[in-house]
Amino acid sequence: MGDEIELLKRRLQREKNIRQQAEKIAEEKSRELYIKGLELEKSLQAESQARKEIETLYQEVERLSHIDPLTELSNRRSFNTEALRLFQLAIRNQNKLSCAMLDIDFFKRVNDTYGHDFGDKVLVAVAKACQKQIRKTDLLARFGGEEFCFLFPETDLNGAALVAEKIRHAISKLEFHSGKNRFSVTVSIGVSKLLDSNDKMESMLKRSDDSLYNAKRNGRNRVVIWEG
Ligand code: GH3
Ligand code: MG
Ligand code: MG
Repeated sequence: MGDEIELLKRRLQREKNIRQQAEKIAEEKSRELYIKGLELEKSLQAESQARKEIETLYQEVERLSHIDPLTELSNRRSFNTEALRLFQLAIRNQNKLSCAMLDIDFFKRVNDTYGHDFGDKVLVAVAKACQKQIRKTDLLARFGGEEFCFLFPETDLNGAALVAEKIRHAISKLEFHSGKNRFSVTVSIGVSKLLDSNDKMESMLKRSDDSLYNAKRNGRNRVVIWEG
């Protein structure tokens, strides 16, 4: 009887030990799993963060493809796309529409006298002055070197000529300082409008360009309106 009790006690103790060991192993395993879970969560978060960064970079690349890096105005390609949409809309709704082409007078002299970097500063200031004079719904782009293009929706030729004159005047009032020198620049502007439903955007831009050429020929620092 006594032996049997002793045997049972030992067995009980053995089982207790086994259970304790099992609990210890289970506890360790559960801690390992917990840590692995945390690590997994971290790497999932990192992946999601990386995806967001890639998305932001794509958006930035997309944004920059429409922008002139120096002046941060729209570039020519972006202008053409947006202007064509507004041009077609104006024809469909029989709305007025005008445009203007601006070119800085004797800009080569600015570069030659004050250096190309200073010329860049002048371009940025001119771009800002243009932006300041127009409506949010107007389009403005740097079309090429020292040439800027505007589109004025719902604006007739007189309205566009008035804005162009305001722009010309505002730019002529800008003062530039380089060392001891102070100088200002002038611009020539050609203005034209949408004629009829058979008109083409390139033709309208060309009419502004022709007027700009006339402004240059007639002495610069002026606005010339296309008169057909
Ligand atoms: P005009 O009155 O007939 O327009 O004379 P202009 O000197 O302005 O015209 P021209 O076409 O002879 O010269 C344009 C100058 O613009 C020459 C070119 O080096 C300069 N230019 C074009 N792009 C840039 C630019 O991004 N930065 C600077 N600083 N200069 C530029
Ligand atoms: Mg010029
Ligand atoms: Mg030019």
